[in-house]
Amino acid sequence: MAVVNPEFLQTLALSGQDAGAECFNCGTCAAICPLVDGHFPRKMIRYAQIGAEQRILENALELWKCLHCGLCTRTCPRGANPGEVILALKRHVVAAWRER
Ligand code: SF4
Ligand code: SF4
Repeated sequence: MAVVNPEFLQTLALSGQDAGAECFNCGTCAAICPLVDGHFPRKMIRYAQIGAEQRILENALELWKCLHCGLCTRTCPRGANPGEVILALKRHVVAAWRER
C-alpha cells in the first residue's frame, strides 16, 4: 500500500527542487518528452507532489532514463520545472539508497 506524505516536497527541496507543487497534472511534459514512455515524467512529478515516496523508490530506475533535454521544463505551463524535479528526485533516491 502506498503511503502519502504531503510534507515530501519540503524534503525534496533539500535535494534542490520543490516546484512540483505547481503541477496541475496537465500531461504536457509527458506528451513532449522524447522518451514517450509510461507518462514520464508526469507520473513521477505526481508521486513527488503527493509524497508517494515508496512508489518513487520502486520506480527509481525510470528516473535514470531522463535525457535532461529540458523540453518538459520549457513547455510546462505552470513553471513546475519537471526536469529539475526529476534531477532532485535522483539526488533524493541516491541518498535513500546510501542509507540502506
Ligand atoms: S507540464 Fe507541468 S503542469 Fe503539466 S503535468 Fe507536467 S509538470 Fe505538471
Ligand atoms: S528533461 Fe527528461 S523528462 Fe524532461 S523532456 Fe527531457 S527526457 Fe523527458
